[in-house]
Amino acid sequence: MTELTHYINGEHVKGTSGRFTEVFNPATGEVQAKVPLATVEEMNAAIAKAEEAQKAWGATNPQRRARVMMKFGALINEHMDELAELVSREHGKTLPDGRGDVQRGLEVVEVCMGAPHMLKGEFTDDGGPGIDLYSMRQPLGVVAGITPFNFPAMIPLWKMAPAIVSGNAMILKPSERCPSTSLRLAELLKEAGLPDGILQVVNGDKEAVDAILDNETIAAVGFVGSTPIAQYIYGRAASNGKRAQCFGGAKNHMIIMPDADLDKAADALVGAGFGAAGERCMAISVAVPVGKETADKLVEKLTPRIEKLKVGPYTADEEVDYGPVITGAAKQRIEGLIDSGVEQGADLLIDGRGFQLQGYEDGFFVGPSFFDNVTPDMDIYKEEIFGPVLSQVRADTYEDALNLIIDNPYGNGTAIYTADGDTARDFAHRVNVGMVGINFPIPVPLSYHTFGGWKKSAFGDLNQYGPDAFRFYTKTKTVTARWFSGIKEGGEFNFKAMD
Ligand code: NAD
Repeated sequence: MTELTHYINGEHVKGTSGRFTEVFNPATGEVQAKVPLATVEEMNAAIAKAEEAQKAWGATNPQRRARVMMKFGALINEHMDELAELVSREHGKTLPDGRGDVQRGLEVVEVCMGAPHMLKGEFTDDGGPGIDLYSMRQPLGVVAGITPFNFPAMIPLWKMAPAIVSGNAMILKPSERCPSTSLRLAELLKEAGLPDGILQVVNGDKEAVDAILDNETIAAVGFVGSTPIAQYIYGRAASNGKRAQCFGGAKNHMIIMPDADLDKAADALVGAGFGAAGERCMAISVAVPVGKETADKLVEKLTPRIEKLKVGPYTADEEVDYGPVITGAAKQRIEGLIDSGVEQGADLLIDGRGFQLQGYEDGFFVGPSFFDNVTPDMDIYKEEIFGPVLSQVRADTYEDALNLIIDNPYGNGTAIYTADGDTARDFAHRVNVGMVGINFPIPVPLSYHTFGGWKKSAFGDLNQYGPDAFRFYTKTKTVTARWFSGIKEGGEFNFKAMD
């Protein structure tokens, strides 16, 4: 079995804790590797080395730092298929989806190639008589990224690229379920010219995370994962005086108005609900048709589409729509939630429980499930299922549908399907959710905008990537300067008497 490593000071380093966790192949259920779990001492040593290395890196001019990103981007492109395969092998998502995972991270690297522009300061000429003001953005020092399993390439890239190009060193603690992509990205960054010690990939679990949160050198923590952990990390990092942005879970709704193109809405719901086995923080897990007729027609359109979905391993010869979920425990939890939906009175129109794939009997596959007549008091509505389960909540009016979303504790993404610009505009304006799609199911903003949810989907300030990332990973210093009149008033050519 492969024993994975940490990546510290530009090389692979074996774990010394003697503690490991298993990395599965979710399609077969087999353990394919073990990943070391760092101790507090290992974490502190990696942070100390990063602190040393950061001094020279922070003093390197931004254009040179950006050139490392240019080479890094080229290397990611060159190794696209290999990286996508690494993602799929540990996560289970299909290869085209694995490529998408790498691509959406690469796009953030591309924006970081323009870092000198993003990092330049502000200047006010003559803010007072002979007084100038200027602000500069300086790196924070050593920062940390703690990332989830579901985007093993994209989210580590969202963290590392802006942090590093801004002149910081980064400690990356990837998900212990899918660590290999981060280790490979660290190798590619070295090949692109990044000095040793600037990206330290330290694998681990809660012990390693807590070591980050309690280490005095760490100036900022960027976290992505589930809501309870996001809230915990935000609290502990902030109480230790660190800057923190912690992105959490989601429950994303799509409103379908009676005037919507229902074929397009159904196609979008199937892709956004079941793609990546529903393991996306921007997955649409709740369809909210407005009016009985819309709801009935939507069921008619969705049912055959969902029944046709092909579930399989990423290595399958034929095209598959989605793969297994991440672990056996995740499969059990999802199926338990489906049980609860049935017990609590929702109509299970398509049942994905007990799904078996020939040749992959031990894989963590869950068939697609579709519930109608779900109500807000049911567990399948209240919980983020993070699996291939779509719930339909029927609403009588647009206002009811909108209020359902407004009252939901999560606020990551949402969408509306309608032919009416006025309704769409009203929705975008009033909904209390961070990312909104209009006739667009998964509105993950492009890399030069920013990504972030509201309510319990995010704790702390500023969004991920785009201009906000440069604000998060730098601190502003503002200088107010005045020079008294001097040599320009005229040179002095004569010896002065010493009176
Ligand atoms: P998770 O919260 O279990 O783990 C995320 C990270 O936190 C991992 O690195 C893990 O090692 C660490 N961690 C786990 N338990 C910890 C603990 N008790 N103390 C300290 N650290 C701990 O999340 P996950 O299962 O890997 O990812 C899925 C979740 O991430 C979903 O809820 C999904 O919605 C969310 N997510 C959110 C976004 C976003 O931008 N809002 C993006 C992707 C995923």
